[in-house]
Amino acid sequence: MRLETVAVHAGRGVDAATGAVTPPIHLSSTFERAADGGIKEYFYARHGNPNRAALEVCLAALEAGAAAAAFASGAAATMSILQALAPGDHVVAPSDAYHGTTILLRDILGPWGLAATFVDMTDLAEVERAPRANTALVWVETPSNPLLRVSDIARIAALAHAAGARCAVDNTWASPVLQRPFALGADLSLHSTTKYLGGHCDVLSGAVVTRENDALFQRIRNIQIQGGAVAPAFDCWLVMRGIRTLPYRVRGHCQNARALAAFLAHHPRVDAVHFPGLPTHPGHAVAARQMADFGGMLSFQVRGGRAEALAVAARLRIITRATSLGGPDTLIEHRASIEPPGKGTPENLLRLSVGLEHPDDLIEDLTRALA
Ligand code: PLP
Repeated sequence: MRLETVAVHAGRGVDAATGAVTPPIHLSSTFERAADGGIKEYFYARHGNPNRAALEVCLAALEAGAAAAAFASGAAATMSILQALAPGDHVVAPSDAYHGTTILLRDILGPWGLAATFVDMTDLAEVERAPRANTALVWVETPSNPLLRVSDIARIAALAHAAGARCAVDNTWASPVLQRPFALGADLSLHSTTKYLGGHCDVLSGAVVTRENDALFQRIRNIQIQGGAVAPAFDCWLVMRGIRTLPYRVRGHCQNARALAAFLAHHPRVDAVHFPGLPTHPGHAVAARQMADFGGMLSFQVRGGRAEALAVAARLRIITRATSLGGPDTLIEHRASIEPPGKGTPENLLRLSVGLEHPDDLIEDLTRALA
C-alpha cells in the first residue's frame, strides 16, 4: 500500500461489536479476565489499551518499522530510548538538538552515568571523530531547530554502525511523509506526535518506532509499561485521526512554506531566510536527496535586532505568536526569548511553523508586519 492508504487504514478496521467505521475510544482502565483467571487481549490500561495498540500498529506501518511504542509526550518517548541504554554508555548527539533532548542527556541522564558528546552533525568529520569504545547511540535531528540545518542520515547511520552504535533519528520536523529514517539506515525513529502526526495542536504525545522488534525495543516497551508515561486512549485516538490526513496536510505545509520562503528571501527588511528548499541553503543538496519535500518549517532574520523582530511578530494578525509546530495555524516564535542562554540563536530570528491557510493571506500578513 502507498503511504496515503497506510495513513487511512493501518491499525483501523470496522468495530466488530458495533459496526462503527470510526473506532470507539476505550476509556476503561481495567479489562475482564477469562473464567480461568487468564488474561484475554488486555488486562490493565497501563499495559495495553485498544486505542494505543491501534496507534502503535499504524505508526510502525507508517515508518515501515517493526514495532512502535506510544508515549504521553515526545519527551517521554526520547527518555525511554535513553533509559534503555546502560549506565556507562555514551551517546553522540547534535549540539543544536531540541533543547529538551539536550537537558535529558546533559542534566538528567548525565548524573545517572550516561555520557554524551555534542557535535555539529552537519560536519561528518566531527561525527566520525566522536564515538568512543562505549558509544551505544548516535542521535540525529534533522532538519534542526531553529536554523533548519540538515544532517545526512545515511552517512551518519553508516558511521554509527561502523562504531558499533545504533542510530536514532528525531523525525518530528520531517514526518514519515518526507523522510524515511529506516530506508536511510537508521535503527530508531522518534516522534513528538504532538506536531505533524497529531496535526491540530490539540494533543500532546510521542512515539518510538524501531526497525527491528529486538531486545532494545523490548527494553523500551518495558520502560513504557513500567515507567508508566503511556499515551492516554483519547490522545491515541486523536493522533490516529490526525494521521489519516497526514500526507495531504504535509503537502499543503510544504507548498505554503515554499511560497513564504520565496517571498521572505526577496524582502528588503529580511536579512536571511533559513529554509532547506532554497538552493542557497547549505543543506539544500542533502535535503533534496533524503527528503521528499522540504517541510513546513522555516526561520528568518529581520533586519535590525531583537526589538525589530519582536515588533514584526507583534504586528501580525493572522499568524499567531506561539511555540510548537505542525498544526493548521501558522505560528511564529522569537526563539532567542525562550532558549537557554548560550545556544547562540540570533536575536533577530523568528521561526515560522507554516500552517494551512491560503499562502496569499499569510504573505499579506507578513507584508503588513514587515512594512
Ligand atoms: N523533538 C522535537 C524535534 C521537538 O520539536 C519536540 C518538541 O517541541 C520534542 C522532541 C518533544 O516533544 P513533546 O513536546 O511532545 O514532548
